[in-house]
Amino acid sequence: MGLGPKAFIDHSALEQNMQRVRQAAPNSRVMVMLKANAYGHGMLTVANTLQSADSMAVARVSEGVQLRAAGITCPVVILEGCFDQDELLQAAKHNLELVVHEQGQIDLLQQQTLISPVVCWLKVDTGMHRLGFPVSRAMAAYNALRECKNVAPEVSVMTHLSNADDINDDTTDRQIELIRPVLEQTGAQGSIANSGGILNWAESHREWVRPGIMLYGSSPFTGRIGADDGLLPVMTLKSNLIAVNHYSKGDGVGYGGTWVCPEDMPVGVVAIGYGDGYPRHATPGTPVLLNGQLLPLIGRVSMDMITLDLRTQPHATTGDEVTLWGKGLPAETIAQHASTISYELFCGVTSRVEFIQERSG
Ligand SMILES: *Cc1c(COP(=O)(O)O)cnc(C)c1O
Repeated sequence: MGLGPKAFIDHSALEQNMQRVRQAAPNSRVMVMLKANAYGHGMLTVANTLQSADSMAVARVSEGVQLRAAGITCPVVILEGCFDQDELLQAAKHNLELVVHEQGQIDLLQQQTLISPVVCWLKVDTGMHRLGFPVSRAMAAYNALRECKNVAPEVSVMTHLSNADDINDDTTDRQIELIRPVLEQTGAQGSIANSGGILNWAESHREWVRPGIMLYGSSPFTGRIGADDGLLPVMTLKSNLIAVNHYSKGDGVGYGGTWVCPEDMPVGVVAIGYGDGYPRHATPGTPVLLNGQLLPLIGRVSMDMITLDLRTQPHATTGDEVTLWGKGLPAETIAQHASTISYELFCGVTSRVEFIQERSG
């Protein structure tokens, strides 16, 4: 293996996080979230490891077709549903389940002649105000789907939590209360919980839970890390030192010379930058793991490189391995230093990074 950015994907950790979901919601079926290339971890390899899931979900029809083309036979749910006839025909052909969140999608189902009925999920808006029928129109939409010849007889009902990243926010309780009468009146199978719901709101578990970020080892809760919730990091992003230089007191480092050496000091250069998905907004002081010790990032993040303050490790040399996030350094910590969330860091890793599949145990 040469020097440069690599993302190590630990499939044992993925399996153990899946166990954590089963343990937290023992009476629910599990729909694993594989959208956006499995949160940047690699959709097909993640799907292969998580074949024990009861279903898999992606945002778009094109992602579902990719899963089928790779031979995945598990039920697949399309979270945004279909937007035209072509997508609907594709969905029917590949046996994809559809979320239906607006009237136009019901119209589309009523107009088309399909080779076989499709399984549908009615999406109800209980406060996220992004997708879904308002509670007041949920019964009418549900009945329209039940009567449509292209829709398989059992229609399920789902809603999405908007504030489940905050354990102290009572919005989640209100959303659970709002969907309750819809589930009672329809008698449908229900799904409410994302990772936050799974770990903190047992009343949200219902027949199906929908874990995303917890499978990948990050905590869904602001201010916590995966380990606090019994989760293991799946992706570890690493690279190597490619230069160690010595600069003088007063020298600026990197674009704009914004970081100025407070004394004569060694500066390390690591082969990773925003072109690989390391966040450009990471501020000086963002921790990086080198030879088992945390060191601060200094200067601006470039496209291909970052610079480190090597004063605590003056003997570090070219080739030394550096961990940017993952085992030993939670992605949540880096996200905080870059004013973002671990979800975005994972999704942002670019195709230039080499992905390496491994099993820790
Ligand atoms: C992405 C997504 C989830 C998973 O959310 P996490 O916070 O990653 O667990 C669940 N449901 C829907 C509809 C989603 O789009």
